[in-house]
Amino acid sequence: MSGSLKNLIAANEALKTEISQRVSDLEHTRSIARISEENPNPVLRISSAGEILYANKPSHILLAYWHAEDGGCLPEDWCASVAESLRAKKTEERELRCAGRWFSLTLQPVVDSDYVNIYGRDITERKEAEDQIVNYDDLTGLPNRALFQDRLNQVLNLAQRSGKLAAVHLVDLDHFKEVNETMGREAGDQLLQGISGRLLECVRTSDTVARLGGDEFGIIQVEPADTDGVSVMAQKLLKCLKDPFEIDGRKVYSGASIGITVFPDDAKDSEDVLRNADLALHNGKGDDRGSYRFYVAQMNEEIQRRRSIEDDMRESLENGDFVLYYQPKLNINSNRITGMEALVRWNHPENGFMSPADFIPVAERSKLIIPLGEWVLQEACSYNKGLLDAGLDPVKVAVNLSPVQFRSEGIVNSVKSILDETGLDPNLLELEITESLAMQNADMSIELCGALADHGVSLSIDDFGTGYSSLSYLKKFPVQRIKIDKSFVDDINSDESSGVIARAVTTLGHAFDMEITAEGVETEDQFCCLRAMDCDEIQGYYFSRPLPASELEAFLRIFEDTWGLKLRQERRQGSSDRRNVTRLRSTI
Ligand code: C2E
Ligand code: CA
Ligand code: CA
Repeated sequence: MSGSLKNLIAANEALKTEISQRVSDLEHTRSIARISEENPNPVLRISSAGEILYANKPSHILLAYWHAEDGGCLPEDWCASVAESLRAKKTEERELRCAGRWFSLTLQPVVDSDYVNIYGRDITERKEAEDQIVNYDDLTGLPNRALFQDRLNQVLNLAQRSGKLAAVHLVDLDHFKEVNETMGREAGDQLLQGISGRLLECVRTSDTVARLGGDEFGIIQVEPADTDGVSVMAQKLLKCLKDPFEIDGRKVYSGASIGITVFPDDAKDSEDVLRNADLALHNGKGDDRGSYRFYVAQMNEEIQRRRSIEDDMRESLENGDFVLYYQPKLNINSNRITGMEALVRWNHPENGFMSPADFIPVAERSKLIIPLGEWVLQEACSYNKGLLDAGLDPVKVAVNLSPVQFRSEGIVNSVKSILDETGLDPNLLELEITESLAMQNADMSIELCGALADHGVSLSIDDFGTGYSSLSYLKKFPVQRIKIDKSFVDDINSDESSGVIARAVTTLGHAFDMEITAEGVETEDQFCCLRAMDCDEIQGYYFSRPLPASELEAFLRIFEDTWGLKLRQERRQGSSDRRNVTRLRSTI
């Protein structure tokens, strides 16, 4: 073989090797280039002006979302992010939700170039787990307040645009606290779970049921036909919560109250909606549990009025604008004044004298009744002690206890320390609680009355006949007196049933060793009728109106020395009482 042929073959071999090397290099380069193609996550290259220079297949979901399937530019806010990343030479992270999935996108500026690479990652699972924690209530699995508000905003926007109705029902459980306190937290949790299940059964899939916190649930009702449709839903909700739940083998009753607001009327934003429903709920609670109530625009005015009364009351408590009047009570058997009821009056700096009916309910709701009630108790005890010190015969002073005050913590200690401070004999203090208050949670009332009685204080049941007393309970109450409500006294002569009730209460009370006082006695006929029934004591305009403290003292003195004395003498001599009080009273 010639030398030149050999050279040619060698050159050819070298060429082959080089070609195969180059082919292999090219393959390698191509396979590297395919890395982006093979990546299951989105990878994109974007120029400084926001043009899409490259996008792998999995990016198409993003391109579709950006309406950039055929190339072109990213939306403006993304262009801004790209520019910022290039300017600052910094990696930027953004999250994007599209086509039902979540992506984390990292914008990576490439060194010495004017483009960025975007690397995407599907983070849907993580986001959903986070969302569960952030937006759902652990215990019931229902949407929480944050998600509820979100949905409410969407529904409100829609309602504002379409003009179609929507409603929010705020559901507050009536007896949850009692269950939690008496049966324990676990039972409370079970109750909440049971309730959430029942609520879900009452709604359509497009509605939202959420737990807003504690024992409060919210329901967004979408597109009811009209407000009747909203009422129907509220009734359905109440009904489904009325039946007992079975917890730890016991029947547990929850019951609920509902505040409702309908929108888009009356509300600009979701906060308005919630506030209105809350106003409706709390305007209803207290007086009529177990019912539903719609928000009405006047509620705002009512709240304003209450607030202004509350503010004035606070000031008046400090300035001493409250005064006590005392209404004497006549014992018909002994013809002596043996008691008086303290009745509070508010000498309002602008409105003048105000009746308790106008401010006691406001004080109850705002809890101002606690300091006010304490003041009344203190003032009444110290006044009564003053009468004794001034040499008058002992009389009992009766003080009204409001429901909030009676159930407040420390009521027993408060009464005891006021008696200690004023030095009044506990026998000369009587506390009045209304029949309806006594019978609500009767066992607890009996216990509280017992604790008060242990300090030597007497108790009476006020407005008797207006509540629904269980008579078997009545005898368990350590009370010394029943006060027959004025409504029975009013027509004791004209309406047979009033007379029958008054007589029955008197007989029953006496059988339980209690004294009977008739309230609101205004006429001689009523007086005679009550005396014939063997009623023990009368209170009312017929004998005396409530009097200011100074007048009462004078009244007591004059009565004892003159008319009281005469009445007793005449009674001993057997003369009729019929005209006595009238005659004597006319000279007062
Ligand atoms: P109440 O405890 O039933 O008090 C009796 C009310 O009947 C008093 O009204 C009294 O002035 C009125 N009254 C007495 N005799 C007659 C009568 O012959 N005819 C008529 N028409 N009325 C008569 P008042 O003083 O306006 O008190 C109303 C209610 O306000 C009281 O009803 C009581 O529930 C509450 N209240 C008054 N003072 C206090 C207080 O210091 N604390 C609390 N918690 N409530 C009070
Ligand atoms: Ca009373
Ligand atoms: Ca009364």
